[in-house]
Amino acid sequence: MVEEQLIRRGIVDERVLEAMRRVPRHLFVPEDLRHLAYRDSPLPIGEGQTISQPYIVALMTQALELKGSEKVLEIGTGSGYQAAILSLLAREVYTVERILSLARRAERILARLGYTNVRVNVGNGSLGWPEHAPYEGIIVTAATEQVPPPLREQLADGGRLVAPVGGRWSQTLIRLRRRGDQCVREHLTAVVFVPLVGKYGWREAQ
Ligand code: SAM
Repeated sequence: MVEEQLIRRGIVDERVLEAMRRVPRHLFVPEDLRHLAYRDSPLPIGEGQTISQPYIVALMTQALELKGSEKVLEIGTGSGYQAAILSLLAREVYTVERILSLARRAERILARLGYTNVRVNVGNGSLGWPEHAPYEGIIVTAATEQVPPPLREQLADGGRLVAPVGGRWSQTLIRLRRRGDQCVREHLTAVVFVPLVGKYGWREAQ
């Protein structure tokens, strides 16, 4: 997976590559799909949600430019896999999931595997997790039409926010870099994510 899917496509951050080597992705996917865990694709994790393709996990993580001392917020815990990767690269990881059963399952597997610097919250992640702000890194792993204003507000000065922004069926992965009250925006690549649901996201039934 690391050689063929990540290095060959240009992932160069050694810390990210090492984290992707170390986290057992197969333990974060449903048992009947474990044989597909290291494939070059997203996979269903139940409740109509997905674990992202390994390359997209690596690309988004690399874009956060983590050095190890950061506090990071993830929106969309899903399987907990991205949170496990982040836990090896940052000091503290806060992750928010709106679906209770996914959040609880992720919490269990993260605890079982010893990723003790991750905290999971059940709720509407488009509001962020203000109690622990500011964050040097924010990663949104569900599609949104615009970056929710509370997330911009919770980004530390100099911090990076990575999110799939665009329409319901296709988005652009963007990185915002906060400089004082301004944010500098970069476009990274085209992506397709499940929607961010709730306030500042899509309505549930869409
Ligand atoms: N990062 C996850 C992983 O490593 O498995 C994959 C995330 S999946 C592509 C998107 C997740 O975002 C889903 O689990 C979905 O329930 C969640 N989600 C959607 N809207 C949300 C919201 N407003 N707040 C929190 N989570 C949300």
